[in-house]
Amino acid sequence: MGRIHSDDRAPFSNGLRLAREGQLAFPERFRIDVVGIGERVFQTATGLIVGSDGSPSFLDLAMQDVTDAQATHQQVRFMAYHDPLTGLGNRALFREQLDAAIQRARGEGGSVGVLFLDLDHFKRINDTMGHSVGDRLLLAAADRLRSCVRLSDALARGRNMDEHTISRLGGDEFTVLVPAVKKPEDLAKVARRIQNALVEPFELDGRQVLVRASIGITVWPLDGADSEQLLRNADVAMYHAKERGRNEFQFYASSLGETAMRRIELEGRLRDAAERGELELHLQPRVAAATGKLVGFEALLRWRDPERGLILPGDFIAVAEDTGLIVPIGDWVLQHACETVRRWDDAGLPAATLSVNVSARQLRGEPLAERLLAHAQAAGIDPRRIEVEITESTLVGGTRNVLETLQALRALGVRIAIDDFGTGYSCLGYLRTLPVDTLKVDRVFVSRITESETDRALTAAIVAMGRALGLRVVAEGVETAGQAYLLSSWGCDELQGYLMSRPIPEAEVEAYWRAQLALTP
Ligand code: C2E
Ligand code: MG
Ligand code: MG
Repeated sequence: MGRIHSDDRAPFSNGLRLAREGQLAFPERFRIDVVGIGERVFQTATGLIVGSDGSPSFLDLAMQDVTDAQATHQQVRFMAYHDPLTGLGNRALFREQLDAAIQRARGEGGSVGVLFLDLDHFKRINDTMGHSVGDRLLLAAADRLRSCVRLSDALARGRNMDEHTISRLGGDEFTVLVPAVKKPEDLAKVARRIQNALVEPFELDGRQVLVRASIGITVWPLDGADSEQLLRNADVAMYHAKERGRNEFQFYASSLGETAMRRIELEGRLRDAAERGELELHLQPRVAAATGKLVGFEALLRWRDPERGLILPGDFIAVAEDTGLIVPIGDWVLQHACETVRRWDDAGLPAATLSVNVSARQLRGEPLAERLLAHAQAAGIDPRRIEVEITESTLVGGTRNVLETLQALRALGVRIAIDDFGTGYSCLGYLRTLPVDTLKVDRVFVSRITESETDRALTAAIVAMGRALGLRVVAEGVETAGQAYLLSSWGCDELQGYLMSRPIPEAEVEAYWRAQLALTP
């Protein structure tokens, strides 16, 4: 008994016990640790010999060592279901897994997604660099796919059943099975993640090889009733993706609603908006409350889409943040802001500061201070001419990384403002611990101070508190002279809003500024 595998011991002794009662229920297989050899698997054949009185007298047990046969069987099965080059599942396994996922989704009422992926120009690489290089490329690409699909498990909240499986159908064709799709947009995210994972060139034979993938997407039950249809339609969608230019993805049919489609389209176009020169900054003046003198500007991002005209940040920043595009876009903003300050200096304008808005994502693990310093140096300006605005909610949710980034900015002498203050529910004690210089009182408060007694008292208290903490206090969204008067009387340092000026396209800033200088030199 001691040599029987611990998992098999109970069924084994159970089998013996039941045999005594006249029942034949002996396990068909069990494992024994054979002295000097190790664990072996035995297959059993049993018979029960019953005496004339009906009581059992013998249990006849024949066992055969089937360890090797079983291993061979497993190996054969593995070979039948896997691609020998990459070790990924093959078409047969994929079909089985897809069928199983459909079965389950049918029971649970979910949907299932299939991504069909084809490497662009793989044939050319294979032909020009040779098949062994081609093989190594496939292997390396499979590794990248594996790691990025594993990453995207977070999308499916980690349940084992929800794991995405990736297979190689043959040649340069791969598939990803997403067994529990909540929204079709999630499949777009997986597709983007895969495309991003392939961005870095591959090193093969000391040469850098670039590979892109075109991806077709289908969703059960919308795009096909069974695994065969889903796969075929995903293939069709993949061809459409290729026609649209390489490195694209394409849903098969109407699996996406209008808004989702628009969002994905937006994302696609936003991706290279900076490269196509479609981003611009509009600048809104900040003036000293006491004198009305211009002290600086805030840079507000605009996207000039050739088809839809000027798009405000409210319509694209959230998408940029979700997709991580905010990191390169934010970097463009920093660079552009530094160059703008440089042009002011060259034009002999006063040394005003320029504030830029920075998203949470840019503070997390990104070397923001280094980037700012690099852009400032490239433009030949002092980094202290740039002020960084961070919304209160970002600071409240901030991690240690955020704090480290703020400290690094501080070390450069860059001023830090808390934007939209009053909307993020931060506590005063916490505020004191942060390296901030400026408090920007949110527009919501300012807009109501002349109408509501409560808002008036609240806003006055916020201003007083900011000043007591030694911060510069800026009021946002000042639209009326009445608001400006109250805010100044409470000791607000700066005002910003439509009363002074709307955000101004960059090209018009100098003329505006010179006119202001003529009024309040
Ligand atoms: P924010 O930083 O609080 O910017 C102030 C917003 O209020 C701007 O909207 C501005 O046009 C608007 N505004 C200014 N004065 C008035 C006023 O008197 N009345 C009213 N009703 N509105 C006023 P905008 O340009 O649409 O920007 C919205 C938000 O988008 C910004 O809020 C900022 O959080 C974000 N944003 C803008 N540019 C960038 C950027 O380059 N990067 C990041 N991450 N976020 C940006
Ligand atoms: Mg701002
Ligand atoms: Mg604000």
